[in-house]
Amino acid sequence: MRESVTIDTDRQTYLEAVLAALPECVAIVDRNFELIDMNQAGLAKIGVDRFEDLPEGAPLSLISKPYRRIYREAFESALRGGDQEKNLPFRLQINAVDGATHLLECRFAPLADKAGIINGAVITSRDISEWQDALDAAEQSSSILESILAAVPNAMVVIDEHGHITSFSAAAEKLFGYQESEILGRNVNMLMPAPHQDAHDGYIQRYLRTGEKHIIGIGRTVEGRKKDGTIFPIRLEVGEAQIGDRCLFTGFIVDLTEQKRTEAELQALQGDLMHASRLSAVGSLASALAHEVNQPLTAIANYLSAARDMLDQGVEGNEPLLYEALQESVSESLRAGTIVRRLREFVAKGEINRQILSIAQLVEDAMTLGLVGAYDKGITCTTNIDPDTNHVFADRVQIQQVMVNLMRNAIEAMAGSADKQLGISVQSAPGKRVEIAISDTGSGIDPEMADKLFHPFATTKGGGMGLGLSICRTIIEAHEGTIYAEPNPPGGTIFRIFLLKAAEEQLNVE
Ligand code: ADP
Repeated sequence: MRESVTIDTDRQTYLEAVLAALPECVAIVDRNFELIDMNQAGLAKIGVDRFEDLPEGAPLSLISKPYRRIYREAFESALRGGDQEKNLPFRLQINAVDGATHLLECRFAPLADKAGIINGAVITSRDISEWQDALDAAEQSSSILESILAAVPNAMVVIDEHGHITSFSAAAEKLFGYQESEILGRNVNMLMPAPHQDAHDGYIQRYLRTGEKHIIGIGRTVEGRKKDGTIFPIRLEVGEAQIGDRCLFTGFIVDLTEQKRTEAELQALQGDLMHASRLSAVGSLASALAHEVNQPLTAIANYLSAARDMLDQGVEGNEPLLYEALQESVSESLRAGTIVRRLREFVAKGEINRQILSIAQLVEDAMTLGLVGAYDKGITCTTNIDPDTNHVFADRVQIQQVMVNLMRNAIEAMAGSADKQLGISVQSAPGKRVEIAISDTGSGIDPEMADKLFHPFATTKGGGMGLGLSICRTIIEAHEGTIYAEPNPPGGTIFRIFLLKAAEEQLNVE
């Protein structure tokens, strides 16, 4: 207080002014529970303007029944001059005259007269209704969160900006084999195998530094690590929440073990089907193939018997002829050998093995089998293969299977045609792709087939299975390519296949 300023007032007036200005409710009660006085904030809380307007029996009548006993006990303790520790704050619910209820945090202080005898008590209180409501709401949302964590079918893991786990759902407990109690506060990297295990702290730091999202909102298929050390495939989606200046990350995890197993089983089944279809293609080619191999064998036999005759007649003077006969035998046996080798590769049941291959070479190799017997049927084959078409990342046998299938279909479609022109072309196409086109001048696609050409079991052939084109499409789509058919302007059909060139393809694979 500044000495130069004095206020001309007595202590009573001064205290009354303090009480009137206090935001807290203050009341004085005598030892008979009679209310002696109450400040303006207290009267306002009860909903009256003047002390005289207080309802009968105040303050006890204003207190909600379940709280009256608490009030009495606290008051009696104050009257006994209960020490400060015993006069702990306590809560009362009061009913204002307008029917509103307020939750008050109160304290009693004993009030002694000049002789030191305690005749009453001062009660101070503040309204904590809003604070309690906020607390209830927070408790409610935390129990909602807990029930979500318990019920959410996917495993859910929440971490803070240091990678420490702050929540671990019931499904996460089941999936990873850890109890929430043993994993809370530990680094989430224990749920992942190397190399992410060591790098994960760095990922979070990088994100907090740069804001660049590598997984948040994108989702990834990664690997998880169970308590027993099992590593398993998971789909991870990460969300982010800013709470005050804290950053939390929520990870939703779906176990992909079953899905991957089914995929592998499906792939194996599909591999079996493709293999069966190759065997059946070879079966239908059997007699043409026998003929194709028989030709060089017959030629070899002829050349060798001519050579033997020359030896009988004496080598002298016949050397050039003898040399030529042997040379021809060698190339004919290589020709037969090539057919047999291609056949063996084609029917082998190997793992799918994608490599960088020259598509031009691949198509030329496929022609060895695909065109077996074609010339005998009066078919003219025109090829337009650009040797510079670049490479594709493909499975050799599967792509050959597609080619052989399309070539055999084209040959069959031309059985009744007067003009039998088979065209095979390999060219670069826009979008860093290669286009393989196989055209024929055959019957054209039956209008009934148009919509279901690539569906399994769709066939117009008496002995046909209708699997060839559906397998072709499966193979091409597995290579991220496209296949379709269109009418050939002079009559017949063109099948076009587009595959990504190797460079682009590999970028996608990485
Ligand atoms: P399949 O040869 O056993 O019938 P595909 O799936 O290979 O099975 O062919 C399905 C159908 O598509 C054939 O039955 C035929 O009607 C039609 N088709 C396929 N290729 C041609 C083609 N080049 N010209 C006309 N129709 C074709």
